Amino acid sequence: MRNVNNDCLFCRIVTGDIPATVVRETERTLAFRDINPQAPVHVLVIPKEHYSDVVTLAEGDPGLAAEVLTTAAVVAETEGLLTGGFRTIFNTGGYGGQEVFHVHAHLLGGTPLGPMVA
Ligand code: 5GP
Repeated sequence: MRNVNNDCLFCRIVTGDIPATVVRETERTLAFRDINPQAPVHVLVIPKEHYSDVVTLAEGDPGLAAEVLTTAAVVAETEGLLTGGFRTIFNTGGYGGQEVFHVHAHLLGGTPLGPMVA
């Protein structure tokens, strides 16, 4: 049985209870557009199974962590980001600015993003 948290926003996107603009779906991952985009392309890539953050995902299922990265790479290609480049971010915990506690990779691109700032 897949690990699902019915109180989790992104689990409810996986089940279809909450709509999202999906750009890619695999058996174990989902990629959808961020509701508040910070760049011309801003996609969130998640495992369908609930893990709160990248640490619990990497510890609990490293193969699934790799699948999340593979989906991000494929979306980067289909969104036309390989030429110009792009950024992937896992915000983790309070200091990391994580607001939704279902692990997600932010995939940002489509414009020069500049240096990382804290
Ligand atoms: P975090 O701060 O946790 O790394 O990022 C959470 C992201 O989820 C934010 O960029 C926010 O805009 C996005 N987000 C929050 N609620 C929704 C939603 O209902 N649908 C979608 N597609 N994105 C959301």
